[in-house]
Amino acid sequence: MNTATERHREWAAANKDHLHEYRRMRRIANGEKIRAVAKAWFAANPDKTKEYSKRAYLKNRNKPWYKAAAARYREKHREQAREYQRAYFQRHKERVQERRIKYETNLKMELIAAYGGKCACPGCNESRWEFMTLDHIYGDGAEHKRRLKTSRMVYREVRKLGYPKDRYRLLCFNCNCCRGSMGYCPHEREVQHAHNP
Ligand SMILES: [Zn+2]
Ligand SMILES: [Zn+2]
Repeated sequence: MNTATERHREWAAANKDHLHEYRRMRRIANGEKIRAVAKAWFAANPDKTKEYSKRAYLKNRNKPWYKAAAARYREKHREQAREYQRAYFQRHKERVQERRIKYETNLKMELIAAYGGKCACPGCNESRWEFMTLDHIYGDGAEHKRRLKTSRMVYREVRKLGYPKDRYRLLCFNCNCCRGSMGYCPHEREVQHAHNP
């Protein structure tokens, strides 16, 4: 049996390119109308719209054209996004701050645990987490902080590097500050003195 629908389907398959171009021209010619109809449909079917756009997002989010479009969208709506973030922060100030403190504390705890949990200065027994700082063994701490802006970002980078023990270690505030400003820590001298009285 060769119905009209089947005949049309055959024709469409054989003239794919032609059809594609025809539809493209129609879309361009009727852009306004098509967009208006789509808009009305979206407004009338919010649940389906949500479901479809979620499905499209999951399907396309890693494709280059999607990423490019998303970047263009962000660029175009940068001010709105910033305004939204500001408003969100104002609305949920306490929750946002709470979450940030929790995140940063966890990050620091993980770092402290990875570096042995106590001050690495010989003769110092400080192990209270509040006193712990990350020491850059090669003295590049200031540069590191300048590049990454916050200690949160520094900690994140060190975690990403797998907590290398040859570049960083844990020092308490006292030992770290003293080494920074004096170039030594009294602990070292005391330890030396104890070994060679
Ligand atoms: Zn110390
Ligand atoms: Zn010390």
